[in-house]
Amino acid sequence: MSKRKIIFCDFDGTITVNDNIVAIMKHFQPEGWDKLVQQVISKELSVREGVGRMFALLPTSRKKEIVDYAIGNVTIRDGFRELLEYSRMEGIEFFVTSGGIDFFIYPVLSAFPIPEDHIYCNASDFEGTHIKILWPHACDSECDNDCGMCKTAIIRSYPKEMHERILIGDSITDFAGAKLVDTVFARSHLIELCEDLGLNYYKFDNFFDVISRLEEMKVR
Ligand SMILES: [Mg+2]
Ligand SMILES: [Zn+2]
Repeated sequence: MSKRKIIFCDFDGTITVNDNIVAIMKHFQPEGWDKLVQQVISKELSVREGVGRMFALLPTSRKKEIVDYAIGNVTIRDGFRELLEYSRMEGIEFFVTSGGIDFFIYPVLSAFPIPEDHIYCNASDFEGTHIKILWPHACDSECDNDCGMCKTAIIRSYPKEMHERILIGDSITDFAGAKLVDTVFARSHLIELCEDLGLNYYKFDNFFDVISRLEEMKVR
């Protein structure tokens, strides 16, 4: 029996050219955000704690500005629509697995033919005085990484015995998942991780690179 190919694709810095959380923080400059970023990078704080605390610095009174800025600031990486079309034609399941937040992910992806149940991300609550991030896909008992949006839990729910699992990503939120899959498409910091751990990976600059490589993998 041949395994079905399944893609888990990151959003920030992967589908989009920029990291949208960092862009929001740089634009609105809430006091203390840069220290929190450093603490996440140095692993003093988990991604969940760091992201939660960063958004808690932003007042909900500025909701419209923040949402408009986040959506308006996005640039989609070349070849994304074509990769979706390629995946559909080839029968490859395509999931967006993102550590980003619903208020910018869903509006941006609404321009593309991706069913909502194929998009995993964090959620947000603007009811209080400051933005509260909700974690509908937090780590399960098999992950102690405190991911926030746990990519490994989603990847593990598609067992390797039945699926050829492919991860596309760029950075810290992809590290744990990259260790589980058959093939990684990497850019930026994820390249260094794959090199260090000797994972099976390919570099990409845009999604046309990914399509070419997937075509080559077919004849392998
Ligand atoms: Mg990313
Ligand atoms: Zn996790």
